[in-house]
Amino acid sequence: MALEGLRKGIFSALSKIKGKRRLDEAELQEMIRTLRRALQEADFNVRQTKELTERLAQKMQEEEPRPGINLQTHAMNILYTELVRLLGPPREIPPRGQTIMMVGLYGQGKTTTTAKLANWWSKKMQANVAVIEADVHRPGAFSQLSQLLENTKVDVFGDPESKDAVDIVKRGIEKHSNADILIIDTAGRHQLDEDLVDELKDMSYLVNANERILVIDAQVGQAAGPVAASFNELVDVTGVIVTKLDGTARGGGALSAVATTGSPILFTGEGEKVSDIEKFESDRFISRLLGMGDIQGLIDLAPEDMDEIEAMRLTQRMMSGRFTLNDMYTQMDMMSKIGTVDKFLSFLPAGMLGGMGQMGRKQKEEMQGNLERYRTIMDSMTENEKNNPQILKSDRIKRVARGSGVTEKNVRELIAQWNKSRKMMKGIQGNRKMSKQMRKMMKSGEFEDLTM
Ligand code: GDP
Ligand code: MG
Repeated sequence: MALEGLRKGIFSALSKIKGKRRLDEAELQEMIRTLRRALQEADFNVRQTKELTERLAQKMQEEEPRPGINLQTHAMNILYTELVRLLGPPREIPPRGQTIMMVGLYGQGKTTTTAKLANWWSKKMQANVAVIEADVHRPGAFSQLSQLLENTKVDVFGDPESKDAVDIVKRGIEKHSNADILIIDTAGRHQLDEDLVDELKDMSYLVNANERILVIDAQVGQAAGPVAASFNELVDVTGVIVTKLDGTARGGGALSAVATTGSPILFTGEGEKVSDIEKFESDRFISRLLGMGDIQGLIDLAPEDMDEIEAMRLTQRMMSGRFTLNDMYTQMDMMSKIGTVDKFLSFLPAGMLGGMGQMGRKQKEEMQGNLERYRTIMDSMTENEKNNPQILKSDRIKRVARGSGVTEKNVRELIAQWNKSRKMMKGIQGNRKMSKQMRKMMKSGEFEDLTM
């Protein structure tokens, strides 16, 4: 996942107090020092680093952890609260009636992010989305955008022959006046010079966009702060998207610096593909960073041919401990479709699926092969056997093997795999934070009538 360095640094700091019931001053200071280094390496600025670590130290000294909570978890919970607060509350853009102007310097990922956003709203929200390519300075911008959005439902408007950005935008708006969401990709410059300022002001006036979204490359670290501040002054930025979090150790600094300018971070970019975009919600982001798990993220990750209810039901099963062979199958199927097991794992509490993070390509192919065999075997089982695999003793195993044309050993392997998965799933039940998220989502009513 993104910010891997910061995550390691935080874990290293917290490991200093592992198993401790009391801390002396020296031990506390050692943890704080390690944490400070980790934050600075992620390019958090000096003031934020100081504030964050001082608050942690103070709370560690003043607050007793609740009964049953060890000091390490206590420190983790404090850090969670502080980091979430630092990154600010989330902001939602409704998927209707939006005219969005993308702004930012050259090469930050504006065009890529325009495509990502368009695809996100089109796919996840079933919105009717159109994009206008208004960068007339960069040859190929129109074909870049068209290419990124081929095989999607998004309409791409542009005119590679024209050098008149304002005219293109006028025509585009006219043509796509009934789109739910209209996104306009603009030209950048190497710096915010007079030229760019004039162009953006003209465009901003013409478009009368209700959202002005700034795109910033995370690579610049805390320097993202001043950039965000100047764009904000110029076009009154309504939200920021921080890109390339996948390729830099300085992403923490970029996120925190942007947050302090008061503009909310809306999304993050974590790769070059159109699907590499994540909605930004600081609590979920930090929860993943600290290895506490993120249920909503897990559900969002579900492949497109698996609907949300199905994903939710599976998650609910995982939490309940009632984990059948069908559930295991769905889970493995989901993991193999998502492709990157690492990504899947980053949404689960750290260590829960111990060791699986290292699953290589060969193992993934193996998993695909297993899945097919499991399907065949399961087709020879009764509903009762699939729901209660523990009743599968030697007679039944023999029958199932014969019925599905595999060896008894194959059937035993499937049962062993189920036992292993079930044990891992038990780990989730013990995870307080995940249970809380789960209950919250249940209460929201959306998933109330799921039959288990
Ligand atoms: P623009 O000049 O602001 O429009 O930037 P582009 O959208 O053309 O992106 C510049 C480069 O950054 C391209 O090579 C993109 O593929 C790459 N890029 C954009 N977003 C991301 C991201 O989130 N992660 C990675 N790794 N690369 C990205
Ligand atoms: Mg561009």
